[in-house]
Amino acid sequence: MKVSFLELAPAYRELQAEIDEAFHKVLVKGWYVLGEEVASFEQEFADYLDVMHCVGVASGLDALALCLEALEVGSGHEVIVPSNTYIATALAVTRVGAKVVFVEPDPLTRNLDPSEVQRAITSRTAAILPVHLYGLPAEMQAIRKIANDHGLHVIEDAAQAHGARYFNKRAGGLGDVAAFSFYPGKNLGAFGDGGVVVTDDAAIAERIRTLRNYGSRVKYYNDMRGHNSRLDELQAAALNVKLPYLDAWNARRRHWAQRYNEAFAQIEGLVLPIEPEGCESCWHLYVVGTERRSELQHYLAERGIGTLIHYPLPPYRQRAYADLLIPPGTFPVADELANRVLSLPIGPHLSEEGIAYVCECVTGFFKRDRRV
Ligand SMILES: *Cc1c(COP(=O)(O)O)cnc(C)c1O
Repeated sequence: MKVSFLELAPAYRELQAEIDEAFHKVLVKGWYVLGEEVASFEQEFADYLDVMHCVGVASGLDALALCLEALEVGSGHEVIVPSNTYIATALAVTRVGAKVVFVEPDPLTRNLDPSEVQRAITSRTAAILPVHLYGLPAEMQAIRKIANDHGLHVIEDAAQAHGARYFNKRAGGLGDVAAFSFYPGKNLGAFGDGGVVVTDDAAIAERIRTLRNYGSRVKYYNDMRGHNSRLDELQAAALNVKLPYLDAWNARRRHWAQRYNEAFAQIEGLVLPIEPEGCESCWHLYVVGTERRSELQHYLAERGIGTLIHYPLPPYRQRAYADLLIPPGTFPVADELANRVLSLPIGPHLSEEGIAYVCECVTGFFKRDRRV
């Protein structure tokens, strides 16, 4: 049997008639950038998240950078970012000229540790940028309290958290402003790149709307030095078709996660993902931890099971950030996670047999070992 890490085509096949029709409508209409499809998706996604404003942009990375720019965070400012995040979070901060301040996560939730955040605050700190890593909401109550006490902005990196909940609110509605990505592999994915910024703040939303479109409010008149960063009509049309299925697809992911949790509960030496009180992950990834990561990955690969490592090298150790001169070992929690994490298949279009097979092989790996 073969179980791919993630296949994207089955989602298209499930909705093929609807998606083909939506694309066809856009193509025939002849309006391809910033039209009705984008406007309608912005409204629908804002309603889904229960936020006031949603602005379509070109990618998740652009969404993050635009959040910072709209809040006037830049040169001379520091932004707190988890040390174990995907590189994009850090890239957004350095792109606007601010200093990225890495802070260690809690090793069990793998999300920002609020007590570490508190310690990292200086007079130059402008914002805290928590990531809802792997789909699990960060500890937003504590983070917001720290932000309020120090007058800081909270920007959510919700690129992995479409539909996740935190005490009955959706991720994306938990800070001052949030960034989503619609990269094809995300829980809500387009057929190319895309993203949005969401916020309850009308002024921030208006700035993002202007910045995404050359800094222009009136065509050919430019109030700001903006960007070309727009969600296009074809991607928005696809997202309009897919959004109504997001909750059902997330429920399937949740079901697979529960199957894994039950199957692996008794395995010693395998750290399972957790959902703290009040947190409902959208299970973007199902990430286990083990000291024997490469052996397990190899064992599963030999049996036709695809796995990935999210992520093998923390941002502070990347060559891209060599100029920060942060000595290796400065962030031991991020290092340890990078050395141990392994993501198992968890897409909404996996089959019951596929999941059963992954459960059997992972359990088999650790059993075999005990007999030796
Ligand atoms: C995917 C991702 C991004 C970037 O989104 P893109 O659309 O690929 O630019 C940012 N942060 C996190 C945590 C992500 O997983």
